[in-house]
Amino acid sequence: MDGTRRRLVVVGNGMVAAAFLEELVAGSDGFEVTVFGAEPHPAYDRIKLSSVLAGQCEPESLTMLDEDWYAAHGVTLRAGREVVAIDRERRMVRDCTGAETPYDVCVLATGSDPVVPPMDGTHRGGVHTFRTLRDVDDIIEAGQTSSSSVVIGGGLLGLEAAYGLRRRGVEVSVVHLMDRLMERQLDAVGARVLRGELERMGMRVVMPAETASILGNGRVEAIALRDGRVLDADLVVVACGIRPAAG
Ligand SMILES: Cc1cc2nc3c(=O)[nH]c(=O)nc-3n(C[C@H](O)[C@H](O)[C@H](O)COP(=O)(O)OP(=O)(O)OC[C@H]3O[C@@H](n4cnc5c(N)ncnc54)[C@H](O)[C@@H]3O)c2cc1C
Repeated sequence: MDGTRRRLVVVGNGMVAAAFLEELVAGSDGFEVTVFGAEPHPAYDRIKLSSVLAGQCEPESLTMLDEDWYAAHGVTLRAGREVVAIDRERRMVRDCTGAETPYDVCVLATGSDPVVPPMDGTHRGGVHTFRTLRDVDDIIEAGQTSSSSVVIGGGLLGLEAAYGLRRRGVEVSVVHLMDRLMERQLDAVGARVLRGELERMGMRVVMPAETASILGNGRVEAIALRDGRVLDADLVVVACGIRPAAG
């Protein structure tokens, strides 16, 4: 280490980390910077995952900072290296390989993880969340052979997943807990108009409906609703919100 520079460790390499790093290198060279990302890629624009799923852009176009950028700015990128512990006494982070990296300043930019409601069957093959490039790759691949899919969650993210699948020609049912779609953003009239548009695109909207369990033998074959209905599905996307990944 250069004895005059303080060591800065950034945990998380998402959109916020990318914006932070760009500002940091523009304003100061007083830090020796190491950034850890649990995902195996340089920072990318997560918002555009919906466009990738809908076939409107390529995954490569999402890159916010490419590997050359990190190298050019002297930032050490540890991609695919989740930080599993922070020892604040010793000022040290430990990553998933067991390696320890010392810091003077540690910035947490760990974002959020998808919420998967507690119910039977979420471990089955064909059940996906919608948060990462990996998720989108998996959903696209599953969609190629899917005859019927279910998206659990009729909020913004769920509807974007449903739209993407529909554009790929997959049969989609959206199962929503509430009695109107996107209830946080829309009033009853707006939600009714939206539902009509989705149905015109060929989506089925099932609500209010609570998913009780995900059925199947190894892979998902159907979902069971609390009211007793069963919907066939060989692909399920769970889009039930997010929680901070601060654990
Ligand atoms: C499909 C989709 C569409 C969206 N559309 C919109 C939109 O239209 N408008 C909008 O405002 N927002 C949208 N969002 C939300 C937006 O993407 C997030 O608000 C934004 O990505 C948050 O940035 P972040 O850096 O805080 O977290 P993230 O982008 O989640 O990045 C955090 C990173 O930290 C990593 N990480 C976590 N823990 C560790 C650890 N212990 N060690 C190492 N790395 C770790 C994670 O793997 C992740 O790569 C959308 C999200 C999705 C998934």
